[in-house]
Amino acid sequence: MKNTLLCSFLVFSGTLAACATSTTRGVETTMAKVLISTEQENQLGMQVKNDLDQTQKIVYMTDPEVVAYVRGIADKVLQFGKRDRPDVQWQVFVIDDAKTVNAFATPGGYLYVYRGLLQTAVNEAELAGVMAHEAGHVVARHSARGMVATYGIEAVESLALGNNPGLLQQITANIASNGLMLSHSRADETEADEFGARYASAAGYDPRGLVTLFEKFKAKEGNTPGFLAYLSDHPASQERINYLTSYMTRNGLSGAELGATAYGRIRARLAILPTATPAAAGAPPSLDAPAAKPAAKPPVAAPPSL
Ligand SMILES: [Zn+2]
Repeated sequence: MKNTLLCSFLVFSGTLAACATSTTRGVETTMAKVLISTEQENQLGMQVKNDLDQTQKIVYMTDPEVVAYVRGIADKVLQFGKRDRPDVQWQVFVIDDAKTVNAFATPGGYLYVYRGLLQTAVNEAELAGVMAHEAGHVVARHSARGMVATYGIEAVESLALGNNPGLLQQITANIASNGLMLSHSRADETEADEFGARYASAAGYDPRGLVTLFEKFKAKEGNTPGFLAYLSDHPASQERINYLTSYMTRNGLSGAELGATAYGRIRARLAILPTATPAAAGAPPSLDAPAAKPAAKPPVAAPPSL
């Protein structure tokens, strides 16, 4: 209602287009912060984890060396996420799926990275950028904002008041099965990219890691039909590369550490560890979406994202 009134006013000001985007986004963000508590975010994250484990039968990597290494890199950037969101339970999981080049986060600080992304990245700076990008989605409450955008303020309000127990279950199932609400808006992706560069740089890593990873995504985008790239909510890789490069320059972000040698050792280990999902004929690289169930998969591969 409030949004409608604001829009009505803005129509007279001749700024209808802006009204439909930035005002809506601002209202949704504000409402998300007010309506969705940290406890609810944590509960949602835990329920999605349970659903991924029990319904989706997600298989995690258990190799102690690989898991400890990935969590070690993540911790270096998550120290800044913990400072900005000390109220969520930050956790990092490695999904044993070599054909999926992806990572995603859910409310509550749950970060997931696919083996395929680990085998695509070539140094720690690239992985640190990804984990920092995902941490940014959590810090900025993008899923909560998306929840308001998807289900409407009234539904989320009833959820917050405990009057809509079925909605939480529905949201959980949607996140786990098809990545709904994890397909963030372009504006959210841009904001997460900024977090990615800032946290990686603060941890001492070269913040251009995210850029060099996007270059690899871009190289694989050639296989994506143009109409799909157009329909994607995610900015195209080149667009993100350009924006990130200027953002890093404007903010004087730097960092020397690449961590290529140590990362090379883990890549060599990944190359010999057995996997149920070899890196062949996979979907294009992407970020922020759990692998869809086979039945829910689109007939053509989804465009790259992060
Ligand atoms: Zn993202």
